[in-house]
Amino acid sequence: MKFKKLCEYFERLEETTKRLVMFDILAGLFKEASGEDIDKIIYLSQGQLLPPFHGLEIGISEKLLIRAISDATDTPTKKVEQTFRHTGDMGRTAEELNKRKGYDLTVKQVYEELTDMAQIGGAGSVEKKIGLLSNLFKGVSPKEAKYIARFVIGRLRLGIGDPTVLEALALSIGNRELRPELERAYNLCSDLGLIAKTLLEKGMEGVRKFKVQVGYPIRMALCERLSSSEDIIQKIGKAAIEAKYDGFRVQCHKDDENVELFSRNLERTTHMFPEITMGMKKNINAKKAIIEGEALAYNEGTGELFPFQVTIQRKRKHGIEEMSKELPLKFFVFDLLYLDGVDYTEKPFLERRRKLESIIKKNEIIEPSEMFVTDDPSEIFKYLESAIERGLEGVVAKRLDAPYSAGARNFNWIKLKRSYKGELADTIDVCITGYFRGKGMRAKFGVGALLGAVYEPETDTFKTVSKIGSGFKEDEFIELKKMLDEIAIKHRHPRVDSVIDADVWVEPRYVITVMADEITRSPAHTAGRDKEGIGYALRFPRSTGFIRFDKKPEDANTVKEIIEMFNQQKQVSVG
Ligand code: ATP
Repeated sequence: MKFKKLCEYFERLEETTKRLVMFDILAGLFKEASGEDIDKIIYLSQGQLLPPFHGLEIGISEKLLIRAISDATDTPTKKVEQTFRHTGDMGRTAEELNKRKGYDLTVKQVYEELTDMAQIGGAGSVEKKIGLLSNLFKGVSPKEAKYIARFVIGRLRLGIGDPTVLEALALSIGNRELRPELERAYNLCSDLGLIAKTLLEKGMEGVRKFKVQVGYPIRMALCERLSSSEDIIQKIGKAAIEAKYDGFRVQCHKDDENVELFSRNLERTTHMFPEITMGMKKNINAKKAIIEGEALAYNEGTGELFPFQVTIQRKRKHGIEEMSKELPLKFFVFDLLYLDGVDYTEKPFLERRRKLESIIKKNEIIEPSEMFVTDDPSEIFKYLESAIERGLEGVVAKRLDAPYSAGARNFNWIKLKRSYKGELADTIDVCITGYFRGKGMRAKFGVGALLGAVYEPETDTFKTVSKIGSGFKEDEFIELKKMLDEIAIKHRHPRVDSVIDADVWVEPRYVITVMADEITRSPAHTAGRDKEGIGYALRFPRSTGFIRFDKKPEDANTVKEIIEMFNQQKQVSVG
């Protein structure tokens, strides 16, 4: 396929506010793609060169892009900056300044050029990257330049999520019924490009053959929530009770001496946690294994575990060695997904756990999470109290005979936290879909409140649930405004359902965590809206921190969860 054609599709996607039209356009695009192109087309549409677990970053900043445009179009950088100030969009800036006809490059050619750019490292890499990008601009038409410019700085703004691609893929082969099978493969390899390519080249037969493989992150299992220990036992009977640690989820893939680590949203984090990588090499009795757990910073002297706000300092790109000495990690492992040729995801929890315990050598860094088996609610309650006293988040109850539910949130794992009077027991993750400029004091930051939405997987849409105007510090408001303006779009995104009009709409990309006093019924929001038009809303929402870079938009809480929480708040809760 010609890159120009792909840009035409991008343009159509950008124009629509209708969800079904968006699916149709995407399905049309996939139908038209060859086996050679389809993976590249999917990655490019999602603003990436490869799935995030490869950790391949293009490494072009706004500044470098300005220089490349300047070089390619023989325009002084000052003039490029001026055009940018005027258009507010690097894409339109590149489009306006580029007067070439282009060489009608193919998707493959552009993709390869961009990949070369990403792979350049070491001395002089900045100049080399600018050179390559400038050359690429010289070979394309204005419209193509627009999308290349947006792509290289991560601002394509199409807002195409993984579920959106899955749905469109199923539509493109004219059979939506096949979506669960595509999803199964996706849950096991987290690579939509690979699945689409397999589908095109080998058909559903090929897709059905996907299995767990070291090196391909498995989409992580998540917890449902209940509000009392009695409910838990009633729901799943005798259960394994574990501490809920508040740190980073890590999925480790060990292939002999080669260890890779992946985060909650399946980004490659190997370089960030050298002690875990080392620990996996030295202290696991296995040649190949996939193990999951939670990593937390701790006080080496007292053994005390640090809260999330401290552990988060370990998430960094530089100064990693020094930080690992200053804030060493403990890695509490809680699941085994693969071991030396055997897929453990299908095996019952207790069997996975026993096997996991048996392959860990005694060491300072890796240890199994605290766990005991009980069918007595009062024991769970006692343990919850002691866990909270020790600064842990709560407990996780696990169904003893359940397989590992890749990519699913269900009652095989149930979290229980303590609820406080006048507050919801749990925080809520919402996706930012737009913002309001604000009045008075706030007006000076340019952002007064955010429009937050929860996710509805059934329709792949974000339904609004709250306006959030508090919980941010002054400098955070300023940073938020800048980040949101970078992903601003002309109109409501087709995956967003809202009756409120935001002052500025944005691509659904960022998630924030909010606390609220309660959930109420409200006609102002679309989450869980009934026939009378009454939805659910958060009362007194406040953000508990800045953007959750570890969460994708689809990791926001779901509409179903909001309704469950609404129903649970009516019941007596623990604590
Ligand atoms: P949260 O914001 O609470 O992390 P979440 O949506 O990311 O929510 P949940 O499904 O609520 O995830 O809880 C599962 C998370 O809890 C896991 O991603 C993991 O990081 C963490 N966790 C801590 N201890 C455990 C444990 N013993 N077993 C499973 N998960 C645990």
